[in-house]
This record gives sequence, C-alpha cells and structure tokens, in this order.
Amino acid sequence: MEEDLVSRANALYWGSEASVNRLAEELDLSKGALYDMIEPYPAGIPCPHGDGEMRYANRTARDRGFVACDQCGFEDEEIHLVGDQDGFPAETDQPRGQTTANGTSTGRLVGSALVGVAVGVLIAGLVRRR
Ligand SMILES: [Zn+2]
Repeated sequence: MEEDLVSRANALYWGSEASVNRLAEELDLSKGALYDMIEPYPAGIPCPHGDGEMRYANRTARDRGFVACDQCGFEDEEIHLVGDQDGFPAETDQPRGQTTANGTSTGRLVGSALVGVAVGVLIAGLVRRR
C-alpha cells in the first residue's frame, strides 16, 4: 500500500508538469511528505567514476540537465557527460572547447560593443538631463 503510493507519487511527479502543490493535494499528502517520497530519476548516464548511475534529484535538476551519481555523489551537468560518445568525460573536451572559442569570442566582442553603445546612450541621457 505504502509502496504503491510512493510509485504513484513518483510517476506523477516525473511524468507530469503538475505542480507539487497540486500533486500533494491529489495524493492527499503534505508537500513535505510528497517530497520525501520522490526518488531520484535515472538520467540513463553511467557515472564517469564507474560506480553508479547519474540521476536527477528533482524536476528542476532535470530541466537544468543537472545530474548526480547515486553511489559516490559526483555531480555534473548532463551536457558534460553525454555527447562524448568516445567514452572520455568532461576533462578531455579541452581542444574542442578551443575551436568553438573562436566563434564565441567574436560573438562576445559584438555583445560588449553593443553593451558599450547602450552604456554610452545611457550616460548621454543622464548628462543631458542635468
Ligand atoms: Zn559515481
């Protein structure tokens, strides 16, 4: 019975976008009791330390792609752990990061130029007002 409620709570929590308040109401639980029942959701990614499975602690973590190992507690962003199909975790994408850095640095220059213009306009406006 109790186990049924736990699996139902988890199915509803992970399988819907309904607010925790609404789910608690639906299951006739307090919000705290519901949170206590929520079990981390498997992300389908093995821990880079090879000791467990990466899981999402809650829906917010899942939305942000934030995973944690259920064994050693190692935490990382999902994006660092997937996409490296060659089996090398985060540390090895240093060279790849540098190739994309060229693209982003031009973007950043344009961005700061725009910020500079915006600040200039702002200052001009302030000066004019006085
Ligand atoms: Zn681990």
